[in-house]
Amino acid sequence: MNAPTPHSHLVPEINQRDVPEALLAALKSRFGANCSTALAVREQHGRDESSFVAPPPAAVVFAESTQDVADAVKLASDFSTPVIPFGIGSSLEGHLLAVQGGISIDVSRMNKVLAINAEDLTVTVQPGVTRKQLNEAVKSTGLFFPIDPGADASIGGMSATRASGTNAVRYGTMRENVLALEVVTASGEVIRTGTRAKKSSAGYDLTRLMVGSEGTLGVITEVTVRLYPLPEAISAAICSFPSIEAAVRTTIQVIQLGVLIARVELIDHNTVRMVNAHSKLGLREEPMLLMEFHGSPAGVKEQAETVQEIASEFGGTAFEWATTPEERTRLWTARHNAYFAAIQSRPGCRAISTDTCVPISRLADCLLDSVKEADASGLPYFLVGHVGDGNFHFGYLLDPNDPKEREVAEQLNHQLVARALALEGTCTGEHGVGLHKMEFLVTEAGVGAVDMMRTIKRALDPKNIMNPGKIFAM
Ligand SMILES: Cc1cc2nc3c(=O)[nH]c(=O)nc-3n(C[C@H](O)[C@H](O)[C@H](O)COP(=O)(O)OP(=O)(O)OC[C@H]3O[C@@H](n4cnc5c(N)ncnc54)[C@H](O)[C@@H]3O)c2cc1C
Repeated sequence: MNAPTPHSHLVPEINQRDVPEALLAALKSRFGANCSTALAVREQHGRDESSFVAPPPAAVVFAESTQDVADAVKLASDFSTPVIPFGIGSSLEGHLLAVQGGISIDVSRMNKVLAINAEDLTVTVQPGVTRKQLNEAVKSTGLFFPIDPGADASIGGMSATRASGTNAVRYGTMRENVLALEVVTASGEVIRTGTRAKKSSAGYDLTRLMVGSEGTLGVITEVTVRLYPLPEAISAAICSFPSIEAAVRTTIQVIQLGVLIARVELIDHNTVRMVNAHSKLGLREEPMLLMEFHGSPAGVKEQAETVQEIASEFGGTAFEWATTPEERTRLWTARHNAYFAAIQSRPGCRAISTDTCVPISRLADCLLDSVKEADASGLPYFLVGHVGDGNFHFGYLLDPNDPKEREVAEQLNHQLVARALALEGTCTGEHGVGLHKMEFLVTEAGVGAVDMMRTIKRALDPKNIMNPGKIFAM
Protein backbone atom coordinates (compact mmCIF):
# COMPACT_ATOMS: atom_id res chain seq x y z
CA MET A 1 0.00 0.00 0.00
CA ASN A 2 1.31 3.45 -0.92
CA ALA A 3 1.93 5.91 1.89
CA PRO A 4 -0.13 9.11 1.70
CA THR A 5 1.66 12.13 0.21
CA PRO A 6 2.85 14.23 3.11
CA HIS A 7 1.59 17.68 4.01
CA SER A 8 -0.16 18.94 0.90
CA HIS A 9 -3.18 19.10 3.21
CA LEU A 10 -1.59 21.54 5.68
CA VAL A 11 -3.51 24.51 4.32
CA PRO A 12 -7.04 24.05 2.96
CA GLU A 13 -7.58 25.02 -0.64
CA ILE A 14 -9.86 28.04 -0.62
CA ASN A 15 -11.88 28.76 -3.72
CA GLN A 16 -14.93 30.71 -2.62
CA ARG A 17 -17.75 31.16 -5.14
CA ASP A 18 -19.44 34.57 -5.14
CA VAL A 19 -22.72 34.57 -3.29
CA PRO A 20 -25.11 36.69 -5.40
CA GLU A 21 -26.74 39.70 -3.72
CA ALA A 22 -30.04 38.46 -5.18
CA LEU A 23 -29.76 35.24 -3.14
CA LEU A 24 -28.99 37.15 0.06
CA ALA A 25 -31.99 39.40 -0.60
CA ALA A 26 -34.23 36.36 -1.21
CA LEU A 27 -33.03 34.69 1.99
CA LYS A 28 -33.58 37.90 3.99
CA SER A 29 -37.05 38.23 2.51
CA ARG A 30 -37.96 34.58 3.33
CA PHE A 31 -36.27 34.28 6.75
CA GLY A 32 -36.19 37.84 8.12
CA ALA A 33 -34.22 37.98 11.39
CA ASN A 34 -33.50 34.23 11.04
CA CYS A 35 -31.05 35.05 8.27
CA SER A 36 -27.95 36.82 9.56
CA THR A 37 -25.07 38.40 7.66
CA ALA A 38 -23.44 39.81 10.83
CA LEU A 39 -19.72 39.10 10.78
CA ALA A 40 -19.61 37.61 14.30
CA VAL A 41 -22.41 35.16 13.47
CA ARG A 42 -20.80 34.20 10.18
CA GLU A 43 -17.41 33.73 11.82
CA GLN A 44 -18.90 31.53 14.52
CA HIS A 45 -20.38 29.32 11.78
CA GLY A 46 -17.27 29.31 9.59
CA ARG A 47 -15.04 27.35 11.93
CA ASP A 48 -15.07 24.17 13.95
CA GLU A 49 -12.74 22.71 16.58
CA SER A 50 -9.98 22.12 14.01
CA SER A 51 -7.01 24.45 13.60
CA PHE A 52 -7.94 25.35 10.02
CA VAL A 53 -9.06 28.83 9.06
CA ALA A 54 -11.03 30.04 6.04
CA PRO A 55 -13.19 33.11 5.36
CA PRO A 56 -16.70 32.63 6.80
CA PRO A 57 -19.91 31.88 4.88
CA ALA A 58 -21.80 34.85 3.42
CA ALA A 59 -24.90 34.31 5.56
CA VAL A 60 -26.33 32.05 8.25
CA VAL A 61 -29.92 30.81 8.10
CA PHE A 62 -31.37 29.63 11.42
CA ALA A 63 -33.85 26.96 10.33
CA GLU A 64 -36.81 26.18 12.59
CA SER A 65 -38.53 23.50 10.48
CA THR A 66 -37.97 21.05 7.65
CA GLN A 67 -39.77 23.53 5.39
CA ASP A 68 -37.26 26.23 6.35
CA VAL A 69 -34.39 23.93 5.40
CA ALA A 70 -36.07 22.93 2.13
CA ASP A 71 -36.73 26.57 1.19
CA ALA A 72 -33.18 27.66 2.03
CA VAL A 73 -31.65 24.79 0.04
CA LYS A 74 -33.99 25.43 -2.93
CA LEU A 75 -32.97 29.10 -3.02
CA ALA A 76 -29.28 28.19 -2.76
CA SER A 77 -29.72 25.61 -5.52
CA ASP A 78 -31.39 28.20 -7.79
CA PHE A 79 -28.23 30.30 -7.47
CA SER A 80 -25.83 27.28 -7.49
CA THR A 81 -24.54 28.44 -4.12
CA PRO A 82 -22.94 26.13 -1.53
CA VAL A 83 -24.86 25.12 1.58
CA ILE A 84 -23.13 23.98 4.77
CA PRO A 85 -25.33 22.32 7.40
CA PHE A 86 -24.36 23.30 10.97
CA GLY A 87 -25.18 21.36 14.17
CA ILE A 88 -23.27 22.72 17.18
CA GLY A 89 -19.87 23.11 15.52
CA SER A 90 -17.88 20.58 17.55
CA SER A 91 -16.39 18.69 14.58
CA LEU A 92 -12.63 18.39 14.43
CA GLU A 93 -11.55 18.02 10.80
CA GLY A 94 -12.47 21.32 9.12
CA HIS A 95 -15.95 20.03 8.24
CA LEU A 96 -17.68 23.40 8.55
CA LEU A 97 -15.25 25.68 6.79
CA ALA A 98 -16.74 27.57 3.86
CA VAL A 99 -13.82 26.71 1.58
CA GLN A 100 -16.04 27.31 -1.46
CA GLY A 101 -18.10 30.07 0.15
CA GLY A 102 -21.88 29.80 0.43
CA ILE A 103 -24.37 29.88 3.27
CA SER A 104 -24.54 28.02 6.54
CA ILE A 105 -27.84 26.41 7.60
CA ASP A 106 -27.88 26.18 11.39
CA VAL A 107 -30.37 23.52 12.56
CA SER A 108 -29.76 23.93 16.30
CA ARG A 109 -33.22 25.51 16.76
CA MET A 110 -34.81 22.34 15.36
CA ASN A 111 -34.47 20.75 18.77
CA LYS A 112 -37.72 18.93 19.49
CA VAL A 113 -37.97 15.32 20.60
CA LEU A 114 -40.76 14.24 18.24
CA ALA A 115 -41.74 10.72 19.40
CA ILE A 116 -40.52 8.44 22.15
CA ASN A 117 -41.56 4.85 21.38
CA ALA A 118 -40.39 3.25 24.59
CA GLU A 119 -42.02 -0.11 23.82
CA ASP A 120 -40.00 -0.33 20.58
CA LEU A 121 -36.84 1.20 22.09
CA THR A 122 -36.75 3.99 19.50
CA VAL A 123 -36.95 7.77 19.54
CA THR A 124 -37.39 10.26 16.72
CA VAL A 125 -35.85 13.70 17.06
CA GLN A 126 -35.16 16.85 15.11
CA PRO A 127 -31.49 17.19 14.15
CA GLY A 128 -30.61 19.98 16.61
CA VAL A 129 -31.43 17.87 19.69
CA THR A 130 -28.15 17.24 21.52
CA ARG A 131 -27.18 13.89 22.99
CA LYS A 132 -27.54 15.17 26.57
CA GLN A 133 -30.94 16.73 25.80
CA LEU A 134 -32.05 13.40 24.32
CA ASN A 135 -30.99 11.46 27.40
CA GLU A 136 -32.77 13.94 29.66
CA ALA A 137 -35.94 13.52 27.59
CA VAL A 138 -35.98 9.70 27.72
CA LYS A 139 -34.75 9.31 31.33
CA SER A 140 -38.21 8.73 32.79
CA THR A 141 -38.78 5.76 30.43
CA GLY A 142 -35.87 3.79 31.91
CA LEU A 143 -34.07 3.94 28.54
CA PHE A 144 -30.95 5.72 27.34
CA PHE A 145 -29.08 6.69 24.19
CA PRO A 146 -25.50 5.46 24.56
CA ILE A 147 -23.50 7.34 21.93
CA ASP A 148 -21.45 10.00 23.66
CA PRO A 149 -18.83 11.99 21.77
CA GLY A 150 -16.85 14.18 24.18
CA ALA A 151 -18.80 17.27 23.11
CA ASP A 152 -22.57 17.61 23.64
CA ALA A 153 -23.03 17.25 19.87
CA SER A 154 -26.29 17.39 17.94
CA ILE A 155 -27.92 14.15 16.78
CA GLY A 156 -27.94 15.52 13.20
CA GLY A 157 -24.21 16.30 13.37
CA MET A 158 -23.47 12.95 14.97
CA SER A 159 -25.38 11.18 12.19
CA ALA A 160 -23.57 13.25 9.56
CA THR A 161 -20.12 12.35 10.97
CA ARG A 162 -21.04 8.74 11.91
CA ALA A 163 -19.90 9.57 15.43
CA SER A 164 -19.24 7.27 18.36
CA GLY A 165 -17.73 7.62 21.81
CA THR A 166 -16.83 5.75 24.95
CA ASN A 167 -19.79 3.34 24.83
CA ALA A 168 -19.26 2.14 21.26
CA VAL A 169 -17.40 -0.99 22.33
CA ARG A 170 -20.70 -2.31 23.75
CA TYR A 171 -23.47 -0.39 21.91
CA GLY A 172 -21.97 0.44 18.51
CA THR A 173 -21.71 3.77 16.69
CA MET A 174 -24.20 5.96 14.82
CA ARG A 175 -23.83 3.46 11.95
CA GLU A 176 -25.54 0.75 14.01
CA ASN A 177 -27.95 3.01 15.88
CA VAL A 178 -29.63 5.22 13.26
CA LEU A 179 -32.75 3.49 11.93
CA ALA A 180 -34.38 6.17 9.77
CA LEU A 181 -33.90 9.70 8.52
CA GLU A 182 -35.73 12.56 6.91
CA VAL A 183 -33.43 14.42 4.53
CA VAL A 184 -33.65 17.58 2.46
CA THR A 185 -31.85 16.78 -0.77
CA ALA A 186 -29.59 19.11 -2.75
CA SER A 187 -32.55 20.21 -4.86
CA GLY A 188 -34.67 20.99 -1.80
CA GLU A 189 -36.90 17.86 -1.96
CA VAL A 190 -37.80 16.10 1.30
CA ILE A 191 -37.21 12.33 1.35
CA ARG A 192 -37.34 9.60 3.99
CA THR A 193 -34.92 6.71 4.42
CA GLY A 194 -35.50 3.58 6.53
CA THR A 195 -38.31 2.86 8.99
CA ARG A 196 -38.67 2.17 12.72
CA ALA A 197 -38.50 -1.57 12.05
CA LYS A 198 -35.42 -3.26 13.49
CA LYS A 199 -34.37 -4.58 10.09
CA SER A 200 -35.25 -4.16 6.43
CA SER A 201 -34.18 -5.54 3.05
CA ALA A 202 -36.01 -2.85 1.09
CA GLY A 203 -33.70 -1.57 -1.63
CA TYR A 204 -30.51 0.43 -1.34
CA ASP A 205 -29.62 1.38 2.22
CA LEU A 206 -29.93 5.15 1.90
CA THR A 207 -29.81 5.59 5.67
CA ARG A 208 -26.29 4.18 5.78
CA LEU A 209 -25.36 6.35 2.77
CA MET A 210 -26.45 9.51 4.55
CA VAL A 211 -24.90 8.52 7.91
CA GLY A 212 -21.31 9.71 7.60
CA SER A 213 -21.91 11.88 4.51
CA GLU A 214 -20.76 15.01 6.41
CA GLY A 215 -23.40 17.29 4.92
CA THR A 216 -22.24 16.57 1.37
CA LEU A 217 -25.41 14.80 0.16
CA GLY A 218 -28.27 16.58 1.96
CA VAL A 219 -29.46 18.12 5.21
CA ILE A 220 -30.76 15.69 7.83
CA THR A 221 -33.98 17.10 9.29
CA GLU A 222 -35.21 14.15 11.37
CA VAL A 223 -33.44 11.16 12.93
CA THR A 224 -34.82 7.94 14.46
CA VAL A 225 -32.35 6.15 16.72
CA ARG A 226 -32.32 3.07 18.91
CA LEU A 227 -32.54 3.32 22.69
CA TYR A 228 -31.37 0.80 25.31
CA PRO A 229 -32.69 -0.12 28.76
CA LEU A 230 -30.71 1.57 31.52
CA PRO A 231 -28.57 -1.23 32.98
CA GLU A 232 -29.75 -2.71 36.27
CA ALA A 233 -26.22 -2.39 37.66
CA ILE A 234 -23.30 -0.22 36.59
CA SER A 235 -19.84 -0.42 38.00
CA ALA A 236 -16.86 1.74 37.00
CA ALA A 237 -13.20 1.22 37.75
CA ILE A 238 -9.85 2.84 37.15
CA CYS A 239 -6.64 0.88 37.11
CA SER A 240 -3.06 2.15 36.76
CA PHE A 241 -0.42 0.31 34.73
CA PRO A 242 3.38 0.32 34.69
CA SER A 243 3.35 1.09 30.93
CA ILE A 244 1.03 1.93 28.06
CA GLU A 245 1.85 -1.47 26.62
CA ALA A 246 0.51 -3.22 29.75
CA ALA A 247 -2.74 -1.24 29.56
CA VAL A 248 -3.12 -1.98 25.85
CA ARG A 249 -2.37 -5.70 26.22
CA THR A 250 -4.96 -5.90 29.01
CA THR A 251 -7.55 -4.31 26.72
CA ILE A 252 -6.77 -6.64 23.83
CA GLN A 253 -7.18 -9.70 26.04
CA VAL A 254 -10.46 -8.41 27.54
CA ILE A 255 -11.93 -7.92 24.07
CA GLN A 256 -10.56 -11.19 22.67
CA LEU A 257 -12.09 -13.11 25.60
CA GLY A 258 -15.47 -11.60 24.74
CA VAL A 259 -15.99 -9.79 28.05
CA LEU A 260 -19.02 -7.54 27.48
CA ILE A 261 -17.29 -4.43 28.78
CA ALA A 262 -19.33 -1.24 28.23
CA ARG A 263 -16.43 1.21 28.19
CA VAL A 264 -12.66 0.85 28.20
CA GLU A 265 -10.70 4.06 27.77
CA LEU A 266 -6.95 4.57 27.83
CA ILE A 267 -5.46 7.72 29.35
CA ASP A 268 -1.68 8.06 29.13
CA HIS A 269 0.49 9.47 31.91
CA ASN A 270 0.85 12.87 30.15
CA THR A 271 -2.90 13.26 30.11
CA VAL A 272 -3.29 12.16 33.75
CA ARG A 273 -0.76 14.86 34.69
CA MET A 274 -2.71 17.49 32.72
CA VAL A 275 -6.03 16.40 34.22
CA ASN A 276 -4.57 16.42 37.74
CA ALA A 277 -3.39 20.01 37.19
CA HIS A 278 -6.74 21.03 35.70
CA SER A 279 -9.22 19.22 37.97
CA LYS A 280 -7.12 18.59 41.11
CA LEU A 281 -7.86 14.84 40.99
CA GLY A 282 -4.69 13.50 42.61
CA LEU A 283 -4.59 10.44 40.31
CA ARG A 284 -1.40 8.35 40.00
CA GLU A 285 0.51 9.82 37.08
CA GLU A 286 0.77 6.51 35.23
CA PRO A 287 -1.03 5.12 32.17
CA MET A 288 -4.53 4.21 33.20
CA LEU A 289 -7.60 2.36 31.97
CA LEU A 290 -11.06 3.64 32.83
CA MET A 291 -13.65 0.91 32.54
CA GLU A 292 -17.36 0.45 33.00
CA PHE A 293 -19.49 -2.67 33.26
CA HIS A 294 -23.24 -2.82 32.61
CA GLY A 295 -25.67 -5.65 33.35
CA SER A 296 -27.24 -7.56 36.20
CA PRO A 297 -25.48 -7.22 39.58
CA ALA A 298 -24.10 -10.77 39.21
CA GLY A 299 -23.05 -10.20 35.59
CA VAL A 300 -21.27 -6.97 36.42
CA LYS A 301 -19.43 -8.63 39.31
CA GLU A 302 -18.32 -11.48 37.08
CA GLN A 303 -17.10 -9.17 34.28
CA ALA A 304 -15.25 -6.99 36.76
CA GLU A 305 -13.51 -9.97 38.38
CA THR A 306 -12.39 -11.30 35.00
CA VAL A 307 -10.99 -7.92 33.97
CA GLN A 308 -9.26 -7.40 37.30
CA GLU A 309 -7.56 -10.79 36.92
CA ILE A 310 -6.35 -9.96 33.41
CA ALA A 311 -5.15 -6.50 34.48
CA SER A 312 -3.21 -7.98 37.40
CA GLU A 313 -1.40 -10.36 35.01
CA PHE A 314 -0.12 -7.28 33.17
CA GLY A 315 0.90 -5.44 36.35
CA GLY A 316 -2.29 -3.39 36.75
CA THR A 317 -2.55 -1.97 40.27
CA ALA A 318 -4.47 0.53 42.36
CA PHE A 319 -7.90 -0.60 41.20
CA GLU A 320 -10.50 1.90 42.38
CA TRP A 321 -14.19 0.96 42.08
CA ALA A 322 -17.27 3.15 41.93
CA THR A 323 -20.88 2.06 41.92
CA THR A 324 -22.84 5.19 42.86
CA PRO A 325 -23.45 7.80 40.12
CA GLU A 326 -21.45 10.42 42.09
CA GLU A 327 -18.41 8.17 42.49
CA ARG A 328 -18.60 7.17 38.83
CA THR A 329 -18.75 10.80 37.75
CA ARG A 330 -15.62 11.53 39.79
CA LEU A 331 -13.72 8.69 38.11
CA TRP A 332 -14.89 9.70 34.64
CA THR A 333 -13.96 13.35 35.19
CA ALA A 334 -10.42 12.51 34.13
CA ARG A 335 -11.63 11.31 30.73
CA HIS A 336 -14.27 13.96 30.17
CA ASN A 337 -11.94 16.85 31.00
CA ALA A 338 -8.94 15.45 29.12
CA TYR A 339 -9.26 17.62 26.00
CA PHE A 340 -9.83 20.88 27.87
CA ALA A 341 -7.13 20.05 30.47
CA ALA A 342 -4.68 19.43 27.63
CA ILE A 343 -5.54 22.68 25.84
CA GLN A 344 -5.11 24.62 29.10
CA SER A 345 -1.76 22.96 29.78
CA ARG A 346 -0.27 25.07 26.97
CA PRO A 347 -2.01 28.47 26.82
CA GLY A 348 -2.81 29.60 23.28
CA CYS A 349 -2.19 26.18 21.73
CA ARG A 350 -4.41 24.31 19.26
CA ALA A 351 -4.68 20.53 19.16
CA ILE A 352 -4.29 18.44 16.03
CA SER A 353 -6.18 15.28 16.83
CA THR A 354 -5.48 11.92 15.25
CA ASP A 355 -8.26 9.33 14.96
CA THR A 356 -6.84 6.08 13.64
CA CYS A 357 -8.64 2.82 14.37
CA VAL A 358 -7.20 -0.66 13.81
CA PRO A 359 -8.37 -4.25 14.30
CA ILE A 360 -7.99 -5.04 17.99
CA SER A 361 -5.15 -7.56 17.49
CA ARG A 362 -3.08 -4.77 15.83
CA LEU A 363 -3.66 -2.15 18.51
CA ALA A 364 -0.38 -2.60 20.37
CA ASP A 365 1.67 -2.54 17.13
CA CYS A 366 -0.01 0.64 15.96
CA LEU A 367 -0.04 2.52 19.24
CA LEU A 368 3.32 1.76 20.80
CA ASP A 369 5.48 2.78 17.82
CA SER A 370 3.45 5.98 17.52
CA VAL A 371 4.09 6.78 21.20
CA LYS A 372 7.83 6.39 20.58
CA GLU A 373 7.62 8.79 17.60
CA ALA A 374 5.58 11.34 19.53
CA ASP A 375 8.03 11.22 22.48
CA ALA A 376 11.00 11.69 20.15
CA SER A 377 9.38 14.71 18.43
CA GLY A 378 9.54 16.91 21.54
CA LEU A 379 6.03 18.23 20.79
CA PRO A 380 3.72 18.20 23.83
CA TYR A 381 0.82 15.79 23.34
CA PHE A 382 -1.93 13.93 25.09
CA LEU A 383 -3.12 10.42 24.31
CA VAL A 384 -6.58 9.06 25.02
CA GLY A 385 -8.38 6.22 23.35
CA HIS A 386 -11.53 4.20 22.97
CA VAL A 387 -9.09 1.33 22.98
CA GLY A 388 -11.73 -1.40 23.18
CA ASP A 389 -12.58 -0.41 19.59
CA GLY A 390 -8.93 -0.14 18.53
CA ASN A 391 -9.47 3.64 18.23
CA PHE A 392 -7.23 6.23 19.88
CA HIS A 393 -6.45 9.94 19.67
CA PHE A 394 -3.12 11.68 19.98
CA GLY A 395 -3.68 15.40 20.48
CA TYR A 396 -0.52 17.21 19.42
CA LEU A 397 -0.50 20.58 21.18
CA LEU A 398 0.99 23.15 18.88
CA ASP A 399 1.54 26.87 18.69
CA PRO A 400 -0.76 27.86 15.79
CA ASN A 401 1.70 30.61 14.81
CA ASP A 402 4.64 28.27 14.47
CA PRO A 403 4.63 26.51 11.08
CA LYS A 404 7.45 24.22 12.19
CA GLU A 405 5.39 22.78 15.01
CA ARG A 406 2.49 22.28 12.66
CA GLU A 407 4.76 20.48 10.24
CA VAL A 408 6.01 18.18 13.01
CA ALA A 409 2.44 17.41 14.12
CA GLU A 410 1.32 16.68 10.56
CA GLN A 411 4.36 14.48 10.03
CA LEU A 412 3.48 12.47 13.16
CA ASN A 413 -0.13 12.17 12.05
CA HIS A 414 0.98 11.12 8.60
CA GLN A 415 3.24 8.37 9.97
CA LEU A 416 0.50 7.17 12.29
CA VAL A 417 -2.07 6.97 9.48
CA ALA A 418 0.38 5.11 7.23
CA ARG A 419 0.98 2.64 10.05
CA ALA A 420 -2.74 2.17 10.74
CA LEU A 421 -3.50 1.59 7.05
CA ALA A 422 -0.67 -0.93 6.78
CA LEU A 423 -2.27 -2.75 9.72
CA GLU A 424 -5.64 -2.86 7.87
CA GLY A 425 -7.13 -0.03 9.88
CA THR A 426 -8.63 3.33 9.01
CA CYS A 427 -7.47 6.96 9.15
CA THR A 428 -10.63 7.94 11.00
CA GLY A 429 -12.61 5.82 13.42
CA GLU A 430 -15.18 8.47 14.33
CA HIS A 431 -14.31 12.09 13.52
CA GLY A 432 -14.79 11.82 9.76
CA VAL A 433 -12.72 13.05 6.83
CA GLY A 434 -13.67 16.73 6.55
CA LEU A 435 -10.75 18.58 4.99
CA HIS A 436 -7.97 17.14 7.05
CA LYS A 437 -8.11 13.51 5.98
CA MET A 438 -9.04 13.88 2.30
CA GLU A 439 -5.73 12.57 1.01
CA PHE A 440 -5.72 9.74 3.50
CA LEU A 441 -9.12 8.63 2.22
CA VAL A 442 -7.74 8.03 -1.26
CA THR A 443 -4.93 5.90 0.15
CA GLU A 444 -7.31 4.01 2.40
CA ALA A 445 -10.27 3.44 0.09
CA GLY A 446 -8.43 3.42 -3.24
CA VAL A 447 -8.99 5.50 -6.36
CA GLY A 448 -11.82 3.27 -7.63
CA ALA A 449 -13.85 3.52 -4.42
CA VAL A 450 -13.38 7.29 -4.19
CA ASP A 451 -14.48 7.55 -7.84
CA MET A 452 -17.64 5.66 -6.92
CA MET A 453 -18.24 8.16 -4.10
CA ARG A 454 -17.83 10.98 -6.66
CA THR A 455 -20.36 9.32 -8.96
CA ILE A 456 -22.88 9.16 -6.11
CA LYS A 457 -22.18 12.79 -5.21
CA ARG A 458 -22.67 13.92 -8.84
CA ALA A 459 -25.95 12.01 -9.10
CA LEU A 460 -27.39 13.39 -5.85
CA ASP A 461 -25.86 16.87 -5.96
CA PRO A 462 -25.23 17.74 -9.63
CA LYS A 463 -24.48 21.41 -8.86
CA ASN A 464 -21.99 20.42 -6.13
CA ILE A 465 -23.59 22.74 -3.58
CA MET A 466 -23.77 20.47 -0.51
CA ASN A 467 -20.74 21.22 1.70
CA PRO A 468 -18.43 21.18 -1.34
CA GLY A 469 -14.69 20.56 -1.02
CA LYS A 470 -15.08 18.03 1.82
CA ILE A 471 -14.30 14.27 1.98
CA PHE A 472 -12.88 14.21 -1.59
CA ALA A 473 -12.13 16.71 -4.32
CA MET A 474 -14.50 16.74 -7.30
C1 LIG B 1 -13.84 17.76 23.18
C2 LIG B 1 -14.35 17.01 22.00
C3 LIG B 1 -14.47 15.63 22.09
C4 LIG B 1 -14.95 14.88 21.02
N1 LIG B 1 -15.08 13.53 21.15
C5 LIG B 1 -15.59 12.82 20.14
C6 LIG B 1 -15.80 11.40 20.29
O1 LIG B 1 -15.49 10.82 21.32
N2 LIG B 1 -16.36 10.74 19.26
C7 LIG B 1 -16.73 11.37 18.09
O2 LIG B 1 -17.25 10.70 17.19
N3 LIG B 1 -16.53 12.69 17.91
C8 LIG B 1 -15.98 13.42 18.91
N4 LIG B 1 -15.81 14.77 18.75
C9 LIG B 1 -16.14 15.40 17.46
C10 LIG B 1 -17.59 15.95 17.33
O3 LIG B 1 -18.19 16.13 18.59
C11 LIG B 1 -18.41 15.00 16.45
O4 LIG B 1 -17.86 14.98 15.14
C12 LIG B 1 -19.89 15.37 16.35
O5 LIG B 1 -20.56 14.31 15.74
C13 LIG B 1 -20.18 16.67 15.60
O6 LIG B 1 -21.52 17.06 15.87
P1 LIG B 1 -21.96 18.60 15.75
O7 LIG B 1 -23.37 18.68 16.12
O8 LIG B 1 -21.02 19.45 16.51
O9 LIG B 1 -21.78 18.81 14.18
P2 LIG B 1 -21.07 20.01 13.42
O10 LIG B 1 -19.68 20.16 13.87
O11 LIG B 1 -21.95 21.20 13.48
O12 LIG B 1 -21.09 19.42 11.93
C14 LIG B 1 -20.30 18.31 11.61
C15 LIG B 1 -20.51 17.90 10.16
O13 LIG B 1 -21.83 17.41 10.02
C16 LIG B 1 -22.58 18.20 9.10
N5 LIG B 1 -23.91 18.36 9.67
C17 LIG B 1 -24.25 18.87 10.87
N6 LIG B 1 -25.57 18.81 11.04
C18 LIG B 1 -26.08 18.25 9.92
C19 LIG B 1 -27.39 17.93 9.48
N7 LIG B 1 -28.46 18.15 10.22
N8 LIG B 1 -27.53 17.36 8.26
C20 LIG B 1 -26.47 17.09 7.47
N9 LIG B 1 -25.21 17.39 7.83
C21 LIG B 1 -25.03 17.95 9.04
C22 LIG B 1 -21.81 19.50 8.96
O14 LIG B 1 -22.00 20.09 7.69
C23 LIG B 1 -20.39 19.04 9.17
O15 LIG B 1 -19.88 18.52 7.97
C24 LIG B 1 -15.31 15.54 19.81
C25 LIG B 1 -15.18 16.93 19.71
C26 LIG B 1 -14.70 17.67 20.78
C27 LIG B 1 -14.58 19.15 20.63
